[in-house]
Amino acid sequence: MSPDASWLADHIRDIPDFPQPGIAYKDIAPLLADVDAFRFTVDAIVDHFATSEVDHVIGIEARGFILGAPVAYRLAAGFVPVRKPGKLPFDTAELEYELEYGTDTLEIHVDAVGPGDRVLIVDDVLATGGTALATVGLVEKVGGKVVGLGFLLELGSLAGREKLAAYDAHSLLTL
Ligand code: AMP
Repeated sequence: MSPDASWLADHIRDIPDFPQPGIAYKDIAPLLADVDAFRFTVDAIVDHFATSEVDHVIGIEARGFILGAPVAYRLAAGFVPVRKPGKLPFDTAELEYELEYGTDTLEIHVDAVGPGDRVLIVDDVLATGGTALATVGLVEKVGGKVVGLGFLLELGSLAGREKLAAYDAHSLLTL
């Protein structure tokens, strides 16, 4: 059984109406700044996927980079960034996905994940699941296989997990 991660919630603060009115932003900066909470978070994600064979850990811009890189290091896997448009310098594959209002796009370097590579996706927050599902789509578009998704926390009321039902989606906390 996974160790109890509920204490991590004490290191996450709600910022009301950020970045826009109506959003309760989960600020994980205090967690990242606390050595025990940061190490526990990385170790707990690693522990869940320790028996999965992982070639690459993908971090989703931007806080997914902070958690994904140490997870990759500990799993002896490479790290691959998935970024917003125009940020990656080399040739990219891209995937456009629907938001509540409009669309957004994510990009990955075309040579970052090869056919059949086994990929773990990491991000800080699972909200509606749109970003995570788009990242799954991007990995599959370049021929990779998603072995799972690891999150620090999920916002249970938004049911993002339902979009990821076909995958091993693991979060340490549900708020
Ligand atoms: P979604 O696509 O709705 O699941 O949103 C997930 C992405 O948006 C993640 O990269 C999160 O970092 C960010 N995000 C969404 N909602 C929040 C929130 N309430 N607080 C902090 N980050 C959020």
